[in-house]
Amino acid sequence: MEEQVHKKPIRSYECEKCSAWHLTSMPYEVWKELEKNQKNK
Ligand SMILES: [Zn+2]
Repeated sequence: MEEQVHKKPIRSYECEKCSAWHLTSMPYEVWKELEKNQKNK
């Protein structure tokens, strides 16, 4: 049962501060905005 609690969606995003890739479990809407910003550059 506990495994389902840990089953959060993990995404990778390129950090603007250190330009490294980090993993995040941020909500999809937030992550989507970051992705959009990356592509606009
Ligand atoms: Zn960073």
